[in-house]
Parts: sequence; C-alpha cells; structure tokens
Amino acid sequence: MSETNPERRLERPKCPKCGSAKALPICYGFPGLEMLEDAMEGKIILGGCVIRGGEPTWRCDECGHEWEELRIDLSILQKKPGDD
Ligand SMILES: [Zn+2]
Repeated sequence: MSETNPERRLERPKCPKCGSAKALPICYGFPGLEMLEDAMEGKIILGGCVIRGGEPTWRCDECGHEWEELRIDLSILQKKPGDD
C-alpha cells in the first residue's frame, strides 16, 4: 500500500454545518479504476462527468451537507499584513 497520490494529502475541511471532520472530497470527471475503488471504499464521492461550474467539492459524511471549498487554498496564499 502506497499513499503517494497527492490528492490524499489534501487537508480536510470541517463541515461548515455540523463541524464534523468526516468530509469526503467530491471528484468530478470520468472515474478511473482507482477513483471507483476509492468511491466503493467510501473515501471519495463521485460527482459525475458533467461539470457545470459551482459544484460542491466536499460532502459531509455525517450530515450529508455539500459545499464548495475553494477558499481553503486562497486563505493560505493570502498573507495578512502584520502576521509575521
Ligand atoms: Zn456535516
């Protein structure tokens, strides 16, 4: 078992609704064998092949809430003045 897939290293956001850390990434596009296996094991959610924009990127495994978490990367990039 190797865990070299960079997607596995993604920091999981907490559910904005219930605060659970059991968020599952929603993967879009045609699923490959690995994605199908991950989905069957409950590691990811398959979002489908069609991307219309504005799709949620995470689904809470506790309450089923889905949300888009794009700000997680931006917040790391945005450095507040005086943080040093
Ligand atoms: Zn939740």
